[in-house]
Amino acid sequence: MKIIAVGRNYIDHAKELDNPVPDQPVIFLKPDTAILKDNKDFYIPDFSKDIHYECELVVRICNEGKHVSKKFAHKYYDAIGLGIDFTARDLQTQLKSKGLPWELAKSFDHSAVVSPLIPKEEFEDLSAIKFSLTKNGEVVQSGNTADMIFDIDTLITFVSGYITLRKGDLIYTGTPAGVGPVIIGDKLEGFIENRPMFSTHIK
Ligand code: MG
Repeated sequence: MKIIAVGRNYIDHAKELDNPVPDQPVIFLKPDTAILKDNKDFYIPDFSKDIHYECELVVRICNEGKHVSKKFAHKYYDAIGLGIDFTARDLQTQLKSKGLPWELAKSFDHSAVVSPLIPKEEFEDLSAIKFSLTKNGEVVQSGNTADMIFDIDTLITFVSGYITLRKGDLIYTGTPAGVGPVIIGDKLEGFIENRPMFSTHIK
């Protein structure tokens, strides 16, 4: 499986990092070795002094899809979860300033926390899902899929025009404002509506 992640999909987050609001989705990949599940601890890697959390709604692909039209995009995902796109912000800033790909800042081991996935039928309205992240018990990010620049169906259509989607792939749909650093001892907890989805200790 692969992880397809979307950058700058919320206007407030694009602005907080001084990035332009994109006119088409910004896409990058994480390998399957990035997955961190079952509430396992996250260990800060030695190559970064500024690891940031980015809490994101995660979509699971359920069918192989290539050039999926928007009308049929909903048939290509079956479950929703919550995750963190951990980012080595110092490394990303360094790479960006040189005009280089951010790959290493995003794709490192265990950089993709993922919760258990909930069948999408359990949601009344996929275009208005509220989610939040707390750090040590305080809300640091809260988002609503209504505020996505590119909604789930649009992302599936866009990505599948370039990259074949396969059953089991995950799409990280972008983070709202409020990203920030973690230090050893922090505890991150993610919620969809009021439902606890994951809990990650930083080591
Ligand atoms: Mg992200």
